[in-house]
Amino acid sequence: MTGDTTTVAFIGLGNMGIPMALQLIAAGHRVAGYDVSADARAALVTQGGIASDNLTEVVAGADIVILMLPNSDIVTQVTSDPEFQAGLHADLFVIDMGSSEPMVTRALAEHLAGIGITLIDAPVSGGVRGAASGTLTIMVGGSGPAVDRVQNVLTPLGRIVRTGPVGSGHVVKALNNLLSATHLWATSEAMLVGERFGVDPKVMLDVLNGSSGRSGSTENKWPNFILSETYDSGFGLRLMLKDMRIANALAVELGVPNELGDFAAERWADAAEDLPSTADHTEIAHWIASRAH
Ligand code: NAD
Repeated sequence: MTGDTTTVAFIGLGNMGIPMALQLIAAGHRVAGYDVSADARAALVTQGGIASDNLTEVVAGADIVILMLPNSDIVTQVTSDPEFQAGLHADLFVIDMGSSEPMVTRALAEHLAGIGITLIDAPVSGGVRGAASGTLTIMVGGSGPAVDRVQNVLTPLGRIVRTGPVGSGHVVKALNNLLSATHLWATSEAMLVGERFGVDPKVMLDVLNGSSGRSGSTENKWPNFILSETYDSGFGLRLMLKDMRIANALAVELGVPNELGDFAAERWADAAEDLPSTADHTEIAHWIASRAH
């Protein structure tokens, strides 16, 4: 690390990883990207980044490793990969910016701490647009000094909110997405009723957005991805379902009643069974409409 320039290994170059890696490069950091997919590595290079297929080298050369992977199972797979482990060195910081399972994150943090490596969780909201514009909300779990130490690589990505000890960012993220998915389902049903009566959907959204029915679904998802019929938010339907299940499992583990959350996840699971694996989460609205008689 020299001055404010940090060497970052960016692992997971998907819908979110690539625009985030590009933001870090634009902020002056040295970034080496890694992904199992050769296409993903090529996409970063095409957009002006540097990518490697050598996981050990990328980790060994880094001050900070950022993980932007689909789920905890894959985080565990990558961090226990002998090629990853061969690159580990003292004083390395690992930031899991994907939406992972808080209890798995806690256990991984303890394990890494035992070998002198600090894990911070810093999942994000704001989607692909927020990633591309450096306006994500970043939910950061970790000790104060640890978060201070990595702040210069998080700042270019968005607004930092310190949520508490390690794992707490992943808790807040999963709960946010459980709410977001539940709002999206409820909004999609309400929009159908209004439309069936003959109200213009744009007028409905105008009213909702000036009223208490407002949410991210009425302000962003419906106007930008559903009414436009593009369904291209860049956030997969199955990733949303994964987050809902993380939140629901947490409620069980903590002994808190969670009836609506469980019901919402069952409904989203029905949609996931019907829709292709690549479906965007905003396709839920179309799917709900397609079942209305
Ligand atoms: P994505 O599926 O587009 O990208 C994931 C990337 O990880 C892919 O390029 C894949 O090849 C790579 N990968 C998979 N296994 C790997 C391995 N073993 N080693 C290295 N790379 C591997 O997913 P995304 O939409 O970028 O989401 C990433 C994370 O961020 C998820 O946890 C998701 O829930 C969360 N998230 C996504 C959004 C969004 O709008 N897309 C928003 C907030 C949070």
